[in-house]
Amino acid sequence: MMIDSLEHLYTQATDGKDRVDLLIRLSEAYHDFDYPKAIALGYDALAIAKTIAYQKGVFFAYNTIGLSYNASGPIDSAYLYTKVALDLAIVLDDPYCLAIAKNNIGTYYLNQGNYPLSLQYFQEALVHDGETGEFIDPMSTYANIGIIHEELGDEKKAIDYYLKSAEAARLKGGEANLAYAQLDIGYVDCMLEKYDSALQHYQDALVIYKKLKHQNRVAETLYYIGEIYQYQKYFEKALAIQKEALQIYQQIHSVADIPSMYGVIANLYKEMERYEEAIAYYKEAIKLAQDGILTSLLPTMYKDLSMIYVDIHDYENAYHYNVMYEALKDTLFNEITHDRIAKLETTYELKVEQAENEKLINEQKHQALILGQRTLMAIGASLIALLVVIITIILYKSNRVKAKLNRDLEQKVEERTAALEAANQKLLQSNDELERFTYIASHDLKEPLRNITSFVNLMQRKLEKIADPDLQEYMGFVTRNTKQLYGLVEDILAHSRIGAQGQKTGKAIDLNVLLEEIKMGLRSMLEEKNAQIFSEELPVILGHKSELFMVLKNLVENGLKYNESPNPQVRINCKQEKDQVLFEVADNGIGIAPVYHDRIFEMFTRLNNRSIYLGSGIGLATCKKIIQKYQGEIWLESKVGKGSTFFFTLPLKKISENQVLEMK
Ligand code: ADP
Repeated sequence: MMIDSLEHLYTQATDGKDRVDLLIRLSEAYHDFDYPKAIALGYDALAIAKTIAYQKGVFFAYNTIGLSYNASGPIDSAYLYTKVALDLAIVLDDPYCLAIAKNNIGTYYLNQGNYPLSLQYFQEALVHDGETGEFIDPMSTYANIGIIHEELGDEKKAIDYYLKSAEAARLKGGEANLAYAQLDIGYVDCMLEKYDSALQHYQDALVIYKKLKHQNRVAETLYYIGEIYQYQKYFEKALAIQKEALQIYQQIHSVADIPSMYGVIANLYKEMERYEEAIAYYKEAIKLAQDGILTSLLPTMYKDLSMIYVDIHDYENAYHYNVMYEALKDTLFNEITHDRIAKLETTYELKVEQAENEKLINEQKHQALILGQRTLMAIGASLIALLVVIITIILYKSNRVKAKLNRDLEQKVEERTAALEAANQKLLQSNDELERFTYIASHDLKEPLRNITSFVNLMQRKLEKIADPDLQEYMGFVTRNTKQLYGLVEDILAHSRIGAQGQKTGKAIDLNVLLEEIKMGLRSMLEEKNAQIFSEELPVILGHKSELFMVLKNLVENGLKYNESPNPQVRINCKQEKDQVLFEVADNGIGIAPVYHDRIFEMFTRLNNRSIYLGSGIGLATCKKIIQKYQGEIWLESKVGKGSTFFFTLPLKKISENQVLEMK
């Protein structure tokens, strides 16, 4: 079936490489049951591969031809093709090809009985096999090494290798390989004399091989089964099976196996004491082995034949074959061979051990590296954790310190605030006391002053009759100063009254009306100085009439008083801004130097000649006190000789109906 499909694929294939590959696969398939056909297909593949210079194809063609020759003889050809394949694999430097080629040449030397050389090649094949990283064919290599050890009598080692082979076959998978594993295990069972179990494994393998039509494997398995029957002394059964195996080998022209099968059957006859048949089969086996140069088969055959001749008392022949046995035995199984094998084995084991050690060391290094990295990470993590802890502690401590400082600060602030409040309270208290004192003092001063003024007036009237100019002048001086003193006391009293009037909103005051009253009061001054007062429409303001009167009167009167113009003028303007009214009182008077712009609002500040300009220096201080009481501001703009403009603001409060009525 598989061959059919491969042949079909081959007829379809046009690519040279594909054709070579398919021919090689076909050759390998025929290898199981028809060596001549397998060899012919190998040659076809080789021819095409060479023409298209397909190197790997050439290698596999040589390889498959060599394999088939190895199984079918002639042995020289087998060596030739296998060796050429190996040389090519070396040139290709391909571990896959090298593993295959070395296993095959090892098999050639195994058949030749050159165990040290075959073992060396097998070991090298295993190394290449390891290099490829995939199990190419270590199962047959292991099994072959097992055979060497078994031949050399080291059963323990042989079992080791057979088990390795079985494991490799199992790992490879697939029916054929599993059957191969069964064979290996059966073989080990057999060596351990567990015949029933061995038989079971062989039977299982047989079923598979028959199904797959792997004739050479069927024959091989039959041979193993026959061997067990022989051990169990079922000679007839064994004979039938071994003959069946021989027949199959003959069908597939397995020249390498045919002589050994003859030997096996001869041995069976010998045990059955059928010496004539035994001798005939041995002789045929020896002839075939000699033809095929299968040297390894010969010593046992010579020995067995010699023993048979002893049994039948033919000592001449017995001696003859014994001599031949001795001669060959030495070449195959001498001590040197044993030593070389042992040495090879030790070196190989050492190598394997070394490789394993290296692998272990590498793994250890890797582990150490990982461990190192982990340790570093752990240290790093611990350091970070430590840092976090330290930072937390520092933060905690600094927070505590901060909290303490805050508490201290708060306490200090509280203490200071309390002290400030106390001081403020004291200040307010002393201010009140002062105001009260000023009020009482000025109020009480007024009484005697009024009396003095009245008596001074009386005295002056009497003195008018006495025409004494000096006396007249003195009296005039007394009258003026008394008047001035009275004015001063009046002003101080007015000033101190402002505080006493409290914070109440007051009444709605129409400033236009107020201004008319002021004008009336200043009438004589206006006439005297030929002065004028202009005003635009003024608003109604909530407040105390006397206070607003004082502000407006002071500013207007100052504007006229400190004025040298032949036509002194005072203009009153007002502008509504958001929630307040801005007033401007501008004059064309003597002006005020900027350095005094702040100072003139202080009590008793007078800038001009007192004899020319009468005044107390209290007016503007009183204005400021009143404006501030109304939460307004007062300032001025002025240049000497260019007149002055006083600005002040008053809040614009909503006036209720009652307040309007009161105003009327
Ligand atoms: P007085 O009773 O002396 O007028 P004020 O407090 O009203 O006191 O004024 C303080 C001083 O400011 C005045 O003596 C005067 O020198 C100056 N002054 C006030 N108003 C004007 C003005 N409109 N023009 C020039 N100087 C002025």
